[in-house]
Amino acid sequence: MSQRHHVVVIGSGFGGLFAAKRLKRANVDVTLISRTTHHLFQPLLYQVATGILSEGEIAPATRQILRRYQDVQVLLGEVTAIDVDAHTVRSRAGGVTTITAYDSVIVAAGATTSYFGQDDFAVFAPGLKSIDDALELRGRILSAYEFAELEPDPKDRGEWLTFAVVGAGATGVEMAGQISELARRALVNDFRSIDTRKTRIILVDALDTVLGTFGTKLSAGAAAQLEKLGVEVWLNEMVVAVDDRGLTVQDHSGRKTHIPARTIVWAAGVKGSSLANSLAEQTGAEMDRGNRIKVQPDCTLPGHPEVFVIGDMTSLNDYPGVAQVAMQQGRYAADQIRRQVTGKGPQEPFHYFDKGSMATISRFKAVASIGKLRFGGFIAWLLWLGIHVLYLVGFKNRITTVLHWAVSFIGRGRSQRTTTSQQLVARDAVHRLRIPDDADPAQVESVEPVDGAPAHRRPQPVRRGR
Ligand SMILES: Cc1cc2nc3c(=O)[nH]c(=O)nc-3n(C[C@H](O)[C@H](O)[C@H](O)COP(=O)(O)OP(=O)(O)OC[C@H]3O[C@@H](n4cnc5c(N)ncnc54)[C@H](O)[C@@H]3O)c2cc1C
Repeated sequence: MSQRHHVVVIGSGFGGLFAAKRLKRANVDVTLISRTTHHLFQPLLYQVATGILSEGEIAPATRQILRRYQDVQVLLGEVTAIDVDAHTVRSRAGGVTTITAYDSVIVAAGATTSYFGQDDFAVFAPGLKSIDDALELRGRILSAYEFAELEPDPKDRGEWLTFAVVGAGATGVEMAGQISELARRALVNDFRSIDTRKTRIILVDALDTVLGTFGTKLSAGAAAQLEKLGVEVWLNEMVVAVDDRGLTVQDHSGRKTHIPARTIVWAAGVKGSSLANSLAEQTGAEMDRGNRIKVQPDCTLPGHPEVFVIGDMTSLNDYPGVAQVAMQQGRYAADQIRRQVTGKGPQEPFHYFDKGSMATISRFKAVASIGKLRFGGFIAWLLWLGIHVLYLVGFKNRITTVLHWAVSFIGRGRSQRTTTSQQLVARDAVHRLRIPDDADPAQVESVEPVDGAPAHRRPQPVRRGR
């Protein structure tokens, strides 16, 4: 077995992938373990959910991206434990347990949807964090129109044609804007009993602004644009109940309003991966309110210079949970390991270089905040298109994405309207089996399998590395 320094990278998102790639410069062996086989470009998930792009365009196989990185091995696995004293990572996939030893570990397991303690909302209001979520939402959104077409009762039809989006940050605004474009452009000629232009879209937030991080002027402009698109913006309204027929919101005075809606999208919050809790317990690191672990200025944990934690699951200097932070921290951690291996001293503490942020509202309309510049409209939208194409992985994906954008934004089409019944029922099935989102697969085994489902295998753990 190789005696080279062995780095385990957990996660194939922005942080993990950029760390693994950067380690090419170091004389180390790398094992990247992730619970998905792809690298997901989350900023374009809403376009998969609304039928503009296919999942392959925003989620290429990690193995393919790293095929020329001979020192990197990619392993599928849900990491269930990191033992910082034993220097091992335990992961499971398909009933196989793997234990991987490390000299250094980079943990980049990201975040999951947060329902602020009301996890039962998840069944009725999927979040938008994964390809599964996006395809399920696509199924829910497009099938709502199918059910509306079938529904003779005007009240029920109205419920099918009402979409509620919870959370007026970038994801919520993008979803609301794209559902509006579906209703008022893409689907207009496709139905005979319903008029899709009568779709009601309600964007709800407990705070008092839309796109709050972009400043007052752009926020107000975004809210006005949404209203022009026919989106009702309900601010200062906290969601207090959700079921299969709608949601209930409550304002500051305590007044409750029920919104009948058969399709609800949850874009309201995220929380750090549960791996953060276990790392905090083992190392004494603190956690913040968003379930993120507070890391040292060099992205390591107290007393463990070999354990790097980066990206959305971490809290450092109030840096935002955005792709650039994860990417820059990934590169920083890789450089730090290279220095350790070559006997060089540590780098300066990690410093985030803010390249700005952007959000689209609908076609031709976006907002951008770059340095002190704040601007919106067509120029911001063009910039948004360019930057997103630039960061998409793979030349072919860039070409097909641009073609699909032309179909949707210049024409009226949506190239990706296929949905399957499995996408629609999977969440309910998982809920019935009571499998939490970030379940330890060991727990899954204790659940009675559904009829016909193969029983889980229980092999002995496989030990890897030194
Ligand atoms: C809908 C949406 C839109 C966004 N838009 C923007 C945007 O426009 N601009 C921007 O800068 N940022 C945006 N973000 C945020 C950005 O995507 C995140 O900040 C970034 O992905 C964080 O990178 P990460 O590596 O920390 O986590 P992620 O990219 O989430 O990667 C986490 C990885 O860890 C894996 N993983 C998780 N748990 C385990 C486990 N237990 N075992 C093994 N593997 C595990 C996951 O499968 C995944 O591969 C958006 C996010 C979402 C959800």
